[in-house]
Amino acid sequence: MANSVMTTPAATAAPANPYTTAQRQFDQAASLLELDPGMRAVLRQVRREFTVNFPVRMDDGTIRVFTGYRVQHNLTRGPAKGGIRYHPQVSLDEVKALSMWMTWKCAVTNLPYGGAKGGVICDPSQLSQQELENMTRRFASEISLLIGPESDIPAPDVNTNQQTMAWIMDTISMEKGYSVPATVTGKPLSIGGSEGRPAATGRGVKVVTLEACRRLGWDPSECSVAIQGFGNVGSVSAELLHAEGFKVVAVSDVFGGIYNRDGLDVPALLQHQAQHGRVGGFPGAREELSNAALLELPVTILVPAALENQFSLENAARIQAKLVVEAANGPTTPEADDIFHQRGVVVVPDILANAGGVTVSYFEWVQDLQSFFWEEKEINARLTRIMERAYQQVDDLAKEHRTTLRMGAYCLAVKRVADATAVRGIYP
Ligand code: NAD
Repeated sequence: MANSVMTTPAATAAPANPYTTAQRQFDQAASLLELDPGMRAVLRQVRREFTVNFPVRMDDGTIRVFTGYRVQHNLTRGPAKGGIRYHPQVSLDEVKALSMWMTWKCAVTNLPYGGAKGGVICDPSQLSQQELENMTRRFASEISLLIGPESDIPAPDVNTNQQTMAWIMDTISMEKGYSVPATVTGKPLSIGGSEGRPAATGRGVKVVTLEACRRLGWDPSECSVAIQGFGNVGSVSAELLHAEGFKVVAVSDVFGGIYNRDGLDVPALLQHQAQHGRVGGFPGAREELSNAALLELPVTILVPAALENQFSLENAARIQAKLVVEAANGPTTPEADDIFHQRGVVVVPDILANAGGVTVSYFEWVQDLQSFFWEEKEINARLTRIMERAYQQVDDLAKEHRTTLRMGAYCLAVKRVADATAVRGIYP
């Protein structure tokens, strides 16, 4: 095995502003739909942006002030929904973009939600478990002005998980004086979580990848796959695609990637990652490579499952995959999108490809509100139906407008939100 692990992310040039990307995508769809200027102006901005600076007591007794955000892009079709991210590069514009993408994602799948997102600027790997808990609880308390089962329901995202959601649920419940499980989704089963939620985003990625392959006439056993990011979404996607017969040849995490052109033993890799906390050093790999190199491998399918801005003007022409399934949010800049379109690379867009997570979050919220819980088989079957229906509707619109799947998805979503906005009218 080569020992050249690199830690540089794929994008080396100044990264695109994700909010500019989100607005450019919206503008393109608004033009296709011939949306009137007033509606355009309403939908291309976020409705509320909330910044909090809050103190946290660290293990050594000192006080540190963290900055966090909760942004609601749109509430027209129901309560806002969207994850909470912990990352050193979190910014208000990133959270605004992610909240807008949540609105479209919920509309593509026809869930009765608007879009929101949250984030805290921090490096969780540098915090102890106690510090993480203190920070999470205080952040939850700060944003309790906005969140709740009827108004805005957070969920896990990058570097947050079931434990984070349990702390948020407990904090809000303590402030109320009674348990409010429907405040967040992605919770542990023992406090009102749903069967199938941890794997839901990856399961949705599998469903849309199979749909794309079926439409392209491809046999999974003849498709090689590279996956960037091996967290919740990337690792489950790898596991489920491997189980469907796809040849997963490369995966990566923040430390770098591994490659074996004959295919990786994904179950063994999952064990290795659980033991070592990284994919690097896996004995079944032939080569180690950087995240940037992983994206340019000669594979059939690429699944970005890490962060934004991985495909840009800088590398889009060198991407060899024929199909990109956007498990991550915002991995492709508009310039890269144009290059992919010109080169015939099919892109299953984020607002469709990773909608499995919010779909099962919706099921969790419904179960919590009813205090009536479903079996995993039923959840997975309903998830598959929703994802397949959404794919069909997106594909139909893409064909009707002679455009990409991304614009098909945007046309479906933006029209649903615009129609709801028009029928509700302008208050007062
Ligand atoms: P996670 O924290 O569980 O995993 C993130 C993975 O990306 C880790 O393996 C990490 O090492 C890797 N990573 C981080 N920075 C990287 C970099 N610069 N280069 C390469 N790899 C890097 O997060 P997740 O929940 O799996 O989310 C991944 C993506 O999927 C995000 O874009 C998120 O918004 C999106 N998403 C998540 C969900 C969900 O249910 N968790 C739902 C929809 C979309």
